[in-house]
Amino acid sequence: MASPAKQDQRVSRKRVAVVGAGVSGLAAAYKLKSHGFSVTVLEADGRAGGKLRSVSYNGLIWDEGANTMTESEPEVQCLFDDLGLREKQQFPISQSKRYIVRNGLPVLVPTDPIALIKSNILSTKSKFQIILEPFLWKKYSTSKVSEDDTDESVGGFFQRHFGKEVVDYLIDPIVAGTSAGDPDSLSMSHSFPELWNIEKRFGSILSGLVQSKLSTKKENSGVRNGTTGKRKPTRGSFSFQNGMQTLTDTLSKELGEDVLKLRSEVLSLSYNAGKSASQNWSLTYSSDRNSKNLIADADAVIMTAPVCNVREMKFMKGGIPFPLNFLPEVAYLPLSVMITTFRKESVKRPLEGFGVLVPSLEQQNGLRTLGTLFSSMMFPNRASNDEYLYTTFIGGSRNRELAKSSTDELKQIVTSDLRQLLGVEGEPTFVNHFYWSKAFPLYGRNYDSVVKAIETMEKSLPGFFYAGNHRDGLSVGKSIASGCKAADLVISYLESSTHQPCAEQ
Ligand code: FAD
Repeated sequence: MASPAKQDQRVSRKRVAVVGAGVSGLAAAYKLKSHGFSVTVLEADGRAGGKLRSVSYNGLIWDEGANTMTESEPEVQCLFDDLGLREKQQFPISQSKRYIVRNGLPVLVPTDPIALIKSNILSTKSKFQIILEPFLWKKYSTSKVSEDDTDESVGGFFQRHFGKEVVDYLIDPIVAGTSAGDPDSLSMSHSFPELWNIEKRFGSILSGLVQSKLSTKKENSGVRNGTTGKRKPTRGSFSFQNGMQTLTDTLSKELGEDVLKLRSEVLSLSYNAGKSASQNWSLTYSSDRNSKNLIADADAVIMTAPVCNVREMKFMKGGIPFPLNFLPEVAYLPLSVMITTFRKESVKRPLEGFGVLVPSLEQQNGLRTLGTLFSSMMFPNRASNDEYLYTTFIGGSRNRELAKSSTDELKQIVTSDLRQLLGVEGEPTFVNHFYWSKAFPLYGRNYDSVVKAIETMEKSLPGFFYAGNHRDGLSVGKSIASGCKAADLVISYLESSTHQPCAEQ
């Protein structure tokens, strides 16, 4: 990142308000602060981190939100290098061993073509359909949609390429495990934009993946170690010592208490155009410390609060209300996260690896959870030597009502599923339950309307930028990249407005 000393003095004095201290807001604020801007982060909650939430208790460590992340995005690599986070990264043991349930029992997911042929996770017909996908894939029926239709479901897309069994036994559990969604409701273009674009470019997914990998290799051979010019991204998933919140704790510490204002819920935002883009924004927020609402002035705003919260905020432009009735309602998926520990001698068939996912169809074999991470198998320091710690997810679009069940009911459900899958005997020695009423926004088949409405807000309100998991992807890595991109846009906006006085809006 550029040294603050090199920044134009007029630019450095500019103020930016960031709404929300999840990972996207913190990453945006960190980038802006590193560039010499004066930043204020307003967070409604009493803690920073948003969906990153780690707990250390009685020798146990667990995550109630995101459990692992990847660093495919160059912005993530830069951030880790800047923050010195490499030494705190924690890589799971045997992370390539991942299981999916078939006929009531966990089956190892094949990671290469030979393993796929040997595996009993799919029928011979489906295996051939995968291998022959470059010749057998079907086009999206143009009679149903127009050329630029982005509304195909995840299930429909993968069925055209690999068949129904692949959707039922690979795609369904994967999307439930990564977004709590289901293949029929999710939009392909928003859930898997990279694969959606590969089909547009190459047709076949398999040959497209091979060709794009080869062309990336070729491109990179001229550039030292990839896009950042630094290091190659670490492959696979990882966490941090003491859990994922180490990432947001580190960011919060770097920002400092002067920048990060907790228990500060933004209630309204007002834009008033001046002769230059100077302090055009004022944000009213509630504050715990003072009984009355406070005001923060800013030259630009990065909004990272969920769309459902933005819809509750009041916007003003030039002294008159700016109604947000064009911003559609987003559907959210509820999720319960259950932490259980069992004594090692009570687990008769423990599995080494990352975890197990349960396809919807396996509900007919009595399984009611979405999946379980083998947390202390991955990270042995997360429980004592004589116990296993598991993280189980219940609910999502498959079972919204079940997510709301009591801790006792969920304990029975988790114990019953783990009895069938891992042979646990007796009761867990420890239980913790965390309920997210809005764990994930559903990237449904009409999600384009949400993204378009966000773009309309940005066009109508100069200096307003939106970032986070409601826009650019659900993963932690994509949320970080989204925050960093918004920070870049703010930097160019404020630099250009410093040099060229704004016209009256
Ligand atoms: P958030 O974390 O939601 O942050 C938004 C912030 O805005 C919140 O702190 C909120 O309090 C604040 N806010 C809201 N309204 C206001 C207001 N009016 N004023 C001020 N502040 C406000 N991703 C992965 O990559 N790997 C995983 O393993 C993974 N597992 C997950 C498991 C669970 C249970 C959940 C819930 C998510 C998981 N995710 C995972 C997804 C990932 O954690 C999130 O998508 C990502 O952290 C979102 O970050 P964000 O900053 O965009 O939003």
